[in-house]
Amino acid sequence: MSECLFCKIVRKEIPASVVYEDDELLAFKDIAPQAPVHLILIPKAHCEGLNDLTPEVEKAVARLPSVAAKLAKEFAIATSGYRLISNCGADAGQTVFHLHFHLLGGKALGGKLCQL
Ligand code: 5GP
Ligand code: ZN
Repeated sequence: MSECLFCKIVRKEIPASVVYEDDELLAFKDIAPQAPVHLILIPKAHCEGLNDLTPEVEKAVARLPSVAAKLAKEFAIATSGYRLISNCGADAGQTVFHLHFHLLGGKALGGKLCQL
C-alpha cells in the first residue's frame, strides 16, 4: 500500500517523531495531539483496520498492549492512567486506513467514549 500515510511513515518516506520501533511495530507521536501524551501505535504490515486483520498483523498486534504499557511508563502516565483505543470505520471517525491504536494520557480523559 504505497499511498498509505502510515506505510510511508514506516518506510521513513515522511517524517514522524518515532518513540518505539521493532521488527513488527512502530509508535510515534500524533501530529495533532488530543492529550498531553498522544501516541500512535501501528503494526508495520499494512491492513486497513480491525475488520481486515491478517495472520501477520494479528501476530504483531498481540504484542502491542505490552508495548503500550512500556511507553506509558516511559511517558510517565502509567500510574495516572491512560486509554488505548482503535477507531474502526466511519461511525468511529477513522481517518487513516492503516490499523492504529491511540495511546492517550496525561490528563483526565473523561468517562465517556460516546454519547447517546
Ligand atoms: P483516526 O482518526 O484514524 O483514528 O486517527 C488518525 C490519527 O492520525 C489522528 O489522530 C491524526 O492526528 C493522526 N495523523 C494524521 N496524519 C498524521 C501524520 O502525518 N503524522 C502523524 N504523526 N500523525 C498523523
Ligand atoms: Zn499502510
